Amino acid sequence: MTRTQVAIVGAGPAGLTLGRLLESAGIESVILEARSRAYCEARIRAGVLEQGTVDLLRDAGVGERIDREGLVHHGISLQFDGERHRIPLSDLTGGRSIVVYGQTEVVKDLIAARLESGLPLLFEAEGVSIHDLEAGRPRIRYRHEGAEHELECDVIAGCDGFHGCCRASIPPGVLREFSREYPYGWLGILAEVAPSIDELVYARHERGFALLSLRSPTLSRYYLQCAPDENLDEWPDDRIWEELQLRTGVAGWTLVEGPIVEKGVTGMRSYVCEPMRHGRLFLAGDAAHIVPPTGAKGLNLALHDVRVLAEALIRFNERGDETLLDAYSTECLRRVWRCEHFSWWMTTMLHLPPGADPFELRLQSAQLRYVTTSPAQARALAENYVGLEAV
Ligand SMILES: Cc1cc2nc3c(=O)[nH]c(=O)nc-3n(C[C@H](O)[C@H](O)[C@H](O)COP(=O)(O)OP(=O)(O)OC[C@H]3O[C@@H](n4cnc5c(N)ncnc54)[C@H](O)[C@@H]3O)c2cc1C
Repeated sequence: MTRTQVAIVGAGPAGLTLGRLLESAGIESVILEARSRAYCEARIRAGVLEQGTVDLLRDAGVGERIDREGLVHHGISLQFDGERHRIPLSDLTGGRSIVVYGQTEVVKDLIAARLESGLPLLFEAEGVSIHDLEAGRPRIRYRHEGAEHELECDVIAGCDGFHGCCRASIPPGVLREFSREYPYGWLGILAEVAPSIDELVYARHERGFALLSLRSPTLSRYYLQCAPDENLDEWPDDRIWEELQLRTGVAGWTLVEGPIVEKGVTGMRSYVCEPMRHGRLFLAGDAAHIVPPTGAKGLNLALHDVRVLAEALIRFNERGDETLLDAYSTECLRRVWRCEHFSWWMTTMLHLPPGADPFELRLQSAQLRYVTTSPAQARALAENYVGLEAV
């Protein structure tokens, strides 16, 4: 049996950032992660960081490489009916911007910082189970390197993603769940070729949505709308490039092809559980909510949760005052629902609906034209995309 102040389950962006913020405040934590370090560092996921996210990572002392290698973007484009329309994010939001920097890199920076501090981060922790949540001293049991362990703590931070064990440990009937499955997914590729775009392009096309994104000056990240259970075997590289060319082509611009080094299919879902707390367990990030990736909000929301949780834990630690812990769920859910709406709105505006219902297609066109011609509508998109300061 060991003891710590905060037991963090999951070494994704949420758990690792929380550990870092607590470390700066002198609060002890142990991070338990089911996977290996190599697996966590190689998992390709998000890549768009809001300015508030970058500021938080800088405050946590892991901003140096983001500042050096992150690509600052001041706009995105929406493409439809064969034309691209730029949304000048920074002009519309008083100078705010986004930074393109892969989640894999964020995770590598956070793991390196944690290990350098010599603080406990246990990879390949197996069979993690949560006990005595309603008591003052919750416990976690797990296996590590062949031995059984028990960890007693003041608080458990459930940062273990959508399929983790923390939310599942909450007794039935406590949580209210809200969800939506989308009848499409994204086929994503990573290609070793200089991106053909300077800024992200969201393309709505009669063959389905496509997104042109990037990870670095030499790595392109491109996506195609596909079925949620699309069989990758049916997508040889040539077919992927052909489809990208068709969906994103515009006059006077060329999509340069290159070797594809990673391919995957992601389903799309919206999900929220309320409240984000039960007893001494606080859920953060994907453990409590999921958004479809179209609004680039998943990672950013996860880091917002842990910023709020860290502040609450610091207050609790300094003064024994639980006011902020009690307000945690309500405070986070305000932003969660704003981002849920934005992500749903972007998704339904840009993807080909099942059966291509002509009425819905006309509504999409009308909305896209409105967003690209009305400064008020463009500003609404921009302020959500770069991240609202207050919600
Ligand atoms: C395939 C995919 C693609 C995505 N693409 C994008 C994108 O393009 N843009 C975007 O904004 N967002 C994207 N997202 C969402 C974004 O990556 C997530 O919102 C973000 O990873 C949330 O961070 P997190 O720390 O809350 O959860 P996670 O990153 O999921 O981390 C949870 C951690 O907990 C660990 N864990 C799970 N169960 C246990 C257990 N029982 N015991 C111990 N550890 C456990 C996991 O191994 C993992 O390391 C994507 C998500 C997925 C799944």
